[in-house]
Amino acid sequence: MGSLYTALASFLDARHRLGTWQLRIDDIDPPRAVAGSVERILTGLKAHGLLWDDEVIYQSQSTDAFEHALTQLGQSGRLFRCRCTRADLKTTGSCGQACVNQQHADDVPHSLRVSVDRSLLTDSEDRFLGPQGITAEALPQDFIVRRRDGLFAYQLAAAVDDAQPNFTHIVRGRDLLDSTHRQRYLHSVLGLTSPQYAHVGLLCGADGNKLSKQNGAPEVILGQAADNLRQCLIQLRQTPPPASARNPDAILEHAISNWAPPLHRTQYP
Ligand SMILES: [Zn+2]
Repeated sequence: MGSLYTALASFLDARHRLGTWQLRIDDIDPPRAVAGSVERILTGLKAHGLLWDDEVIYQSQSTDAFEHALTQLGQSGRLFRCRCTRADLKTTGSCGQACVNQQHADDVPHSLRVSVDRSLLTDSEDRFLGPQGITAEALPQDFIVRRRDGLFAYQLAAAVDDAQPNFTHIVRGRDLLDSTHRQRYLHSVLGLTSPQYAHVGLLCGADGNKLSKQNGAPEVILGQAADNLRQCLIQLRQTPPPASARNPDAILEHAISNWAPPLHRTQYP
């Protein structure tokens, strides 16, 4: 339900503004991929009438662009090899052993980190949450762009893909707000234009945890698509569709015309 809720907010925001709505599958972490999960996402969206424009975009097809970005980061002089294990890191997740000064050899197991120069980044305005200051937790002194296992880090891949010229607006969950500062920082180093970001508060269960599969939330029942959409619209504080709207298409038509961004809330009951 948490994923449906965020997808719905993103869909309504795009459709209300007569924009296109693109679907990207972030599939650059094969060890964590669950068989059949992409099909379940596509089936779930379709069942709720959340139809995307154009072809589905698979992040795994952008690896050349990620490699190019790493080369550029290297040329900027901000990339360094870090051999820290999890136990060595600072509480912010940044390198704990000053690897930046040590020029570790390439054959030592290492991740690649980018060092942060705060002066390159200004505070940002989130379309839903308002002005966002930057804390040390959100933007530590360095962060990983290529993992120790050789895979591209989420921050790098998302930054490069989100800055494609045809993506103007990103709507996503509040849990990614800290990542946004890191991705905006990468944009500034790479000379890319950041899209406009908007974060919606998280849909939480009675225990206060985000409603997601990782937290054991039950899967949405596809046969109850109209009810699911109505529930999400209530949580997004939208005008309820009339009772005569009985199927997903009718509910969405009403919701698109009446979309009012959920402003300045970080968490919903
Ligand atoms: Zn280190």
